[in-house]
Amino acid sequence: MDRGDFRLEQLSEGIFEVSAAGSIRKIRDHHKKEPPRESFAQVGIDPVLIDTGSTRILLDCGLGMGLDRKEPDPDTSNIVTNLDIFGYRPEDIDMVVLSHLHYDHAAGLSFTAKTGVVSATLPNAKVFVQKNEWEAALRSLEEPTGINGMGYEPDDLYRLVADGRFVFLEDELKEICKGITVIRTGGHTPGHQIVRIRQNNRTIYYCGDLIPNETYLNRFVAGKIDTDTVKARKARMLLMQQAWRDQATLLFYHSVYRKTGMLVRDKNRGFVLKKG
Ligand SMILES: [Zn+2]
Repeated sequence: MDRGDFRLEQLSEGIFEVSAAGSIRKIRDHHKKEPPRESFAQVGIDPVLIDTGSTRILLDCGLGMGLDRKEPDPDTSNIVTNLDIFGYRPEDIDMVVLSHLHYDHAAGLSFTAKTGVVSATLPNAKVFVQKNEWEAALRSLEEPTGINGMGYEPDDLYRLVADGRFVFLEDELKEICKGITVIRTGGHTPGHQIVRIRQNNRTIYYCGDLIPNETYLNRFVAGKIDTDTVKARKARMLLMQQAWRDQATLLFYHSVYRKTGMLVRDKNRGFVLKKG
């Protein structure tokens, strides 16, 4: 994807089915076009790679399927196989922004080596997370969060935190690299954050799970997927208005169909997505 001076790629891991309880499985043969099973939602998994020319940044890390040496799976794709497609090695990545710590966004960050030791998938990367998000992940070990879909699995992250790989953000707005700003929204989880990318008068927003795909633009989603529903709705509306004013491109992490687009206003349907 050409976005001016920055290189920007979506690293798609495929299409998955997620149950209300949060179990996930890959739809192996998507060509058969089986109707989605009831009570399962179909989602894409699409981390983003930004190469500014001097810094390589990943936005979320995917499911990490097949990274563990114990269970090799030649059929799967993950952050390492997808970086390889674009000519990057895991050690090339300088920074990772995790929108939040649910495992479908964070699991690719680590793997279990043959020896059973948890190791960093991206050995040179600093990981940017909101401080209150890490606290929420730790709390979830004692109190269930009560929301549908994917949850926290902080156990694998301890090692990385202990090794000083995490940078815990406490600011609502933080420019981590020239043109790349992390914005805390909360809502979906207490420390959920999105990313604004600006260069050459162009603005791009990576929406994380605040707007997982285009169907979230104008509907109130059935089932509780957000920790704080009201806060999430408000933050979602603010993002849509800002993105519309900026003529910004939106990048979606969980889309099955359109993974990017720009917003236009439709008098009957509110915000709708057009190519962009
Ligand atoms: Zn998610």
